Amino acid sequence: MEKKIALLPGDGIGLEVMNGAVEILKAIEEHYYHRFHFQYGLIGGAAIDETNSPLPEQTLNMCKEADAVLLGSVGGPKWDQNPSHLRPERGLLALRKELDLYANLRPVETVESLLDSSPLKREFVEGVDFMIVRELTGGLYFGKPSERKVYGGEETVVDTLFYKRDEMVRIIEQAFELAQGRQKKVTSVDKANVLESSRMWREVAEEVAARYQDVELQHMLVDHAAMALIHNPKQFDVIVTENMFGDILSDEASMLTGSLGMLPSASLSSTGLHLYEPVHGSAPDIAGEDKANPVAMILSAAMMLRHSFGMNEEAEAVENAVKHVLDSGKRTADLAKKGEAPLSTTALVEEVKAAL
Ligand code: ATP
Ligand code: MG
Repeated sequence: MEKKIALLPGDGIGLEVMNGAVEILKAIEEHYYHRFHFQYGLIGGAAIDETNSPLPEQTLNMCKEADAVLLGSVGGPKWDQNPSHLRPERGLLALRKELDLYANLRPVETVESLLDSSPLKREFVEGVDFMIVRELTGGLYFGKPSERKVYGGEETVVDTLFYKRDEMVRIIEQAFELAQGRQKKVTSVDKANVLESSRMWREVAEEVAARYQDVELQHMLVDHAAMALIHNPKQFDVIVTENMFGDILSDEASMLTGSLGMLPSASLSSTGLHLYEPVHGSAPDIAGEDKANPVAMILSAAMMLRHSFGMNEEAEAVENAVKHVLDSGKRTADLAKKGEAPLSTTALVEEVKAAL
């Protein structure tokens, strides 16, 4: 197969882990006789420095012409004081909006050989395997107004949680579709005891569930879900929730696996052009040190092979290679046991390549 892949390394460790993923994709290309055309684009802080825009027109056009987009991460202290339109995160938010990336899929799966890296006891995290489906285009992230104002002589601020019913329908449907191929259980997370948006969300979840008789629907308040993720994570199969709740719960869930550096994600679009990125951010504290764990980025590339290109065998080969390396005790610093010398980013990538 011949495929065009847009590569957006972004900032911080984004570039380092992207290099790792590209190495692995090149190995796949060779083993399976595919042809990948890689095209690099600027986004985030790197794009602001070069072009004075967090999402240059050129990058957007390049993405639109590609078969899939791979993203590293955006952001860093260098741009923290920038005015809001010149923040790196703006680049990613704009890209999500432009490509209509509405569903963020975040699989959380614990690896047997890494159970001791989790801060939780082994018996709590063993066999954990669920998927968080986070809504990505609505909620507090894009609602207007979002502003400060002096009102009645007082300084006030407002953010708006805005959803269209259809946005809820499509994300919840996505969750049910995924559940059909898994354990057939959807947990819809909301705050229906407080928020009107959550009451509509619950209504929509019930409507959608009626069309998927083989899938069980459970409602859970977000505060309870936060607790249940620690207390009994094995109960979950597919979790579906709005934008902000999903953001928070997926960072929390990442710790079940031991490190934020383990979790991949896919952002699906109605247009068929999907984006893949690690759940972690730009990790400025370790950027440029060849220390970052490239696994989340490599597994994101595997998700791309599967979801965008239908290359199931290739995706599985990558996932198995990663598992093999971790099982053999080779880890980057975020996962290394006390007294064990950690591998660098590049060294771990080499191991995965060899295992392939
Ligand atoms: P952002 O706002 O972009 O999410 P952040 O400040 O929240 O950035 P993260 O990148 O999310 O930072 O990282 C949080 C912590 O996890 C940091 O200490 C970072 O070093 C660590 N971390 C994140 N990703 C990795 C990785 N791939 N390998 C090792 N450590 C990581
Ligand atoms: Mg973060």
